[in-house]
Amino acid sequence: MKVKVTDGCIGCGLCQGVCPQVFEMGEDGLSHVVCTDDAFAEGALQCAAMCPVDAIEVEV
Ligand code: SF4
Repeated sequence: MKVKVTDGCIGCGLCQGVCPQVFEMGEDGLSHVVCTDDAFAEGALQCAAMCPVDAIEVEV
């Protein structure tokens, strides 16, 4: 899958909490993609739907 966190991220941490396999909060306080394995597509899509600022783009 393809996963991207856009510049819109406000660093709320929700995505890391829901799917830590794919999203990790960086030292910059923003979310970064650490894995794009298809096995975690469901979690990544869930995060994309839940992100308060729609900053996550997922292509499966
Ligand atoms: S849920 Fe959205 S705003 Fe919150 S840390 Fe993740 S990408 Fe950033």
